[in-house]
Amino acid sequence: MNKIYLDNAATTPLSAEVIDAMVETMKMNFGNPSSTHSFGQDAKILIENVRRQIAEYLHVSPAEIIFTSCGTESNNMIIKSAVEHLGVERIISSPMEHKCVSESILDMKKRKGVEVAYIRPNDKGDIDLDKLAELLKASDKKTLVSLMHANNEIGNIIDIKKVAQICKENNALFHSDTVQTMAHMNLDFSEIPVDFASCSAHKFHGPKGIGFAFIRKASGLKGIITGGPQERSLRAGTENVSGIVGLGKALEISLNNMDAYTEHMQNIKQYTIDRVSEVIPGVKFNGRSAEQANSLYTLISILLPYKNPLIGLQLDMKGIAVSQGSACSSGASKPSMVMMMVLSEDEMDDCTPLRVSFSHMTTKEDIDIFVNALQKISKDLIIENANVEHR
Ligand code: PLP
Repeated sequence: MNKIYLDNAATTPLSAEVIDAMVETMKMNFGNPSSTHSFGQDAKILIENVRRQIAEYLHVSPAEIIFTSCGTESNNMIIKSAVEHLGVERIISSPMEHKCVSESILDMKKRKGVEVAYIRPNDKGDIDLDKLAELLKASDKKTLVSLMHANNEIGNIIDIKKVAQICKENNALFHSDTVQTMAHMNLDFSEIPVDFASCSAHKFHGPKGIGFAFIRKASGLKGIITGGPQERSLRAGTENVSGIVGLGKALEISLNNMDAYTEHMQNIKQYTIDRVSEVIPGVKFNGRSAEQANSLYTLISILLPYKNPLIGLQLDMKGIAVSQGSACSSGASKPSMVMMMVLSEDEMDDCTPLRVSFSHMTTKEDIDIFVNALQKISKDLIIENANVEHR
């Protein structure tokens, strides 16, 4: 069976050049970067080259980039250290954050008594920035604002510069989970006064198990993993040298091709929206995912006008991988918080969300195969639904 992968917001396939660069590093540069001999120093040079490359991309200093094992670790480290080491007493966030952010915040609430305020998004998934300013002005407590740059389920992008400015004006620290936008968009942190951000290489054709945290100079943030002095003592543990090289190669490819990749995926996204709308009467799209501006070009979130908790499985049996942003009120899976925010109760009861996410490798033929399969599955269900309504 010819398999089709449309779940690139979950993870992306490794590019061949990334694999080659990593294999070469594993063979030739096995030294421990902390060793003072040439084997160690050769490995160290590779790491510092990638650090400089990232710093150039973000317009920051290399010292502000700390390698970690993933986006989850970066977000945990930032939120937990902000509370434990920077005296943060209050966190403002939204219910739409990735679990690694929302659970870190809850952990700080439970263990450290941090006050937490959530800004509830509207049914398009937008965060009211006036509300943010209002909340910031309402308290003198040292505050961390944690709002993701782009949502991984519905693709909404916030105005990160505006949020950062509001935080600065109100003396608050600002962390943004940038896992879905790093290497997909130009980000200039010399213009955007964000204090902390995160990255995960496997979201842009790099390896799993490597990411980094951006930590603004002189912020005072400390590590949560203690041990050796690696990563300026912010993240102890022998560095994942081949992973870092893989991240660097993946970033280089993404940046060199950003315009072409963006245009390709915007076209694929529009094609998917048009084709799905053509074959599924009554289909809707969640949040701002059917828009090109203010929305990730890498994904759309479809709302099918019938209930089918098994749709992900049925597509998988046809060799098509998508993600079922689950809003089912029955069965094993719980509705996701994001879907609870953007769907009405009727939509939660009667509809099925489906996330389809693209890469530069996705073709219109892939989309045609997906749409044909979706049409076949949907036909019977739409007829069934109509019969139920008539009975
Ligand atoms: N934040 C967002 C928005 C994500 O989409 C993900 C991955 O799904 C993460 C954080 C976690 O990244 P990682 O898989 O590297 O831990």
